[in-house]
Amino acid sequence: MNFTNSSSLAFDDALAQALAFAAPARAWLVPLLGCSESDALRLYSAADAVRAAYQGTDVQLRGLIEFSSICRKNCAYCGLRVENRGAERYRLTPEEIVATAHRAESLGYKTVVLQSGEDLWFTTERLAAIIREIKATTDLAITLSAGERDRDAYAFWREAGADRYLLRIETTDPALFAALHADSNLDARKQCLYDLRDLGYQLGTGVMVGLPGQRPDTLAGDVIWMHELGAEMIGVGPFIPHPDTPLKDAASGTVEQTLRLVAVLRLVFPHAHLPATTAMGSLHPLGRERALQAGANVVMPNVTPGDVRPKYAIYPGKICLTDDAEHCRGCITGRIHAIGRTVAADHGHVKRVADQETGA
Ligand code: SAH
Ligand code: SF4
Repeated sequence: MNFTNSSSLAFDDALAQALAFAAPARAWLVPLLGCSESDALRLYSAADAVRAAYQGTDVQLRGLIEFSSICRKNCAYCGLRVENRGAERYRLTPEEIVATAHRAESLGYKTVVLQSGEDLWFTTERLAAIIREIKATTDLAITLSAGERDRDAYAFWREAGADRYLLRIETTDPALFAALHADSNLDARKQCLYDLRDLGYQLGTGVMVGLPGQRPDTLAGDVIWMHELGAEMIGVGPFIPHPDTPLKDAASGTVEQTLRLVAVLRLVFPHAHLPATTAMGSLHPLGRERALQAGANVVMPNVTPGDVRPKYAIYPGKICLTDDAEHCRGCITGRIHAIGRTVAADHGHVKRVADQETGA
């Protein structure tokens, strides 16, 4: 059989390619990403088996600190976009951010994710000072997710002690990217990811699922590009339309579409860290559990202080807005145990190829 042409394979042949860890190609990615409901169940269980073989039962917990809802950007899908004048904004002080990290550590987290809009009050030096303080006073790994900044800032934060960076590419389709990002461009965003990779960050990216006009073929292109990039952490979640954005009337992404992508990612990236995202839990009460049973191995519970949480309104219907950090920690542990999984006790750093060969 000729796998090099662009015509799609039947589902069984496509799954066989995935399980043979063939290089990702549209010919087998598209039939998996667009498969029927009954085939999807087989896709999920194949991905779950690969997850069990490569990641074991452990689920990595990352404590999410949403430290500022102020953003200079105008992404068409996001409730924090600068033109959403009705959005309530807040910014935690450096002291509050460090104190929240301490609280996360006391709740047993080994990683904090510092996430925000693109808020330039946090200059390169200000954010570096926060990173240094957390590193000096805790044993936490730090993941940053503060959007597009210049290479010098990324380098400075890495030197200050940041371990990982999350920057979703959102979509690699040039026309769709341009339609969603009037004030950014795909090449610049890709360059940010190349810079982060070259600076030695553990590299996280991802896409939204169900964006207007997106098809299985679009997502296949995303998977191939993320593979070329060498992504080590990949977060995917359904697009959820926000009423105060230009996409307010667009259809929402679905749990099922997203699960297909999670499963495909597990087959293409057996070693990667794949979160069961909050957006999955927001669309369905068991959305995160379903992702954990279709290839995912990470959850990012919220540790943002309760009074500001509702203001980090990227999309409507976000879960856990009125819960406190201690409640979220207990709730997620219960959910993980309920599906027969365990909470990881280590930092959950990504394993690089050299480590994988030595089993480190
Ligand atoms: N400002 C940073 C981090 C905060 S936004 C950044 O943009 O990278 C984090 C993620 O939220 C984005 O990458 C995007 O994928 C997701 N997001 C934004 N709006 C969304 C929506 N309406 N539905 C689902 N996810 C959304
Ligand atoms: Fe800002 Fe990130 Fe939302 Fe874009 S997705 S508007 S950069 S917070």
